[in-house]
Amino acid sequence: MTAELHPNTTVEAFDSAPYQWTRETAQTVYELPFNDLLFRAQTSHRENFDPNKVQLSRLLSIKTGGCPEDCGYCSQSAHHETGLKASKLTEVRRVIAEATKARDAGATRYCMGAAWRNPKARDMDAVVAMVEGVKALGMETCMTLGMLDLEQAARLKHAGLDYYNHNIDTSERYYSEIISTRSFADRLDTLELVRQSGIKVCCGGIVGMGEEPVDRIEMLVTLANLPEHPQSVPINMLIPIAGTPLAEAKPIEPIEFVRVIALARIMMPKSHVRLSAGRTAMTDEMQALCFFAGANSIFVGDTLLTADNPGEDKDTLLFRRLGIEPMELEAQ
Ligand code: SF4
Repeated sequence: MTAELHPNTTVEAFDSAPYQWTRETAQTVYELPFNDLLFRAQTSHRENFDPNKVQLSRLLSIKTGGCPEDCGYCSQSAHHETGLKASKLTEVRRVIAEATKARDAGATRYCMGAAWRNPKARDMDAVVAMVEGVKALGMETCMTLGMLDLEQAARLKHAGLDYYNHNIDTSERYYSEIISTRSFADRLDTLELVRQSGIKVCCGGIVGMGEEPVDRIEMLVTLANLPEHPQSVPINMLIPIAGTPLAEAKPIEPIEFVRVIALARIMMPKSHVRLSAGRTAMTDEMQALCFFAGANSIFVGDTLLTADNPGEDKDTLLFRRLGIEPMELEAQ
């Protein structure tokens, strides 16, 4: 179904999976008066989720730095002089110990990220053992390891992997401005393979990389027109890192960022929209607006893969002030 947005178009009209978004329709929603946009997003949010519950994920870098890819935003690329020291793959027992601590602190999903273009055959046994070990703790498991082949995806699924994170980062048009070592189509290929393997998809992008508003809109159109909406949609606000090509990128204006969250919520009403990297640069009020616009997942802990994140105490305090509670695993 394709439809132009009529002022009376209800949010339910966008719920059904075969709804094919056009850039024009998405742009019309994105440019609605702010209060109308937030009202639509919040209405959609309430129809699909408890508006006062936010899912907590914890992220661990299991292999840091030295990545052969050249993503312009990333401190871990071997192409950029960021001073980050490359490490080897973390031992399985250390990963399980860290996951246990995260579970005991309230996280229900454990995300493990490796700075690879793709996993090597020799790494797969350890990666599989990590998934099995974290799963045995009663947590949801998520990994981000770069491009996968079908056999690797099948092994991960068999080990109990719930989610695979593979972001499309930006629009197809802007992609080559940010990354030259792989294509937008490569990303879509891995996403399709992950979906076919029965692993849930975590896929979003980054805003504030010098892109135009239309790139943010087109990124969301690509995500919303996948055969299934990604179950998790992380929206990151760029943390500019010295030594990367995007070190001087102009920050996105907060109201624009909230519009992106609201549009993601309206276009993918049943997905968890995650407020990911960049929360350290957001005020409490901006985060509160993002939650109102439909964000219902965050990363907790002091660090993301390599960047700072608000500590648990700060998040607990913000949740208390907003009357937000962590989402239980059963509700996810
Ligand atoms: S974002 Fe991932 S793939 Fe790109 S350089 Fe960083 S670690 Fe490598």
